[in-house]
Amino acid sequence: MIKPLIQGLALTLKHFINPSKVITMQYPDERWTTYPRFRGLHELQRDEDGKEKCDACGLCAKACPSECITVKSGKNEQGDKYASVYEINMFRCIFCGYCEEACPREALYLRQNYELATEDIKDQVYTKEKLLLPFK
Ligand code: SF4
Ligand code: SF4
Repeated sequence: MIKPLIQGLALTLKHFINPSKVITMQYPDERWTTYPRFRGLHELQRDEDGKEKCDACGLCAKACPSECITVKSGKNEQGDKYASVYEINMFRCIFCGYCEEACPREALYLRQNYELATEDIKDQVYTKEKLLLPFK
């Protein structure tokens, strides 16, 4: 009965004396380096002229098993289709990457950002403004 207790205390003492052996990551002071194929937050792409690549075809939304993508199409002044609404509900996303695979225009990629916790539930719906690469 007392032996496991002593063993536990000895282990605690060992880690206390030699903290370099601690394997718990001290987040947020330390952060993971993600693997190249890690699937994190989505990013909507622009072409070399800075125009949005997405033409609101809706294939990503159809491919999504969680039904968390909302796309509505509009037309700009040049008559080209674009996504007037593009939203992803991150509460439902399972980061499967099917949306990225389905996109025929390479307009959508899942990137490395995994820090998606928010204090307000509404912030979990990512609008186009939050997903689109900034204009350079
Ligand atoms: S990663 Fe998967 S679940 Fe998330 S939006 Fe894309 S298809 Fe849907
Ligand atoms: S991100 Fe790609 S698949 Fe989704 S609506 Fe835009 S062009 Fe279509």
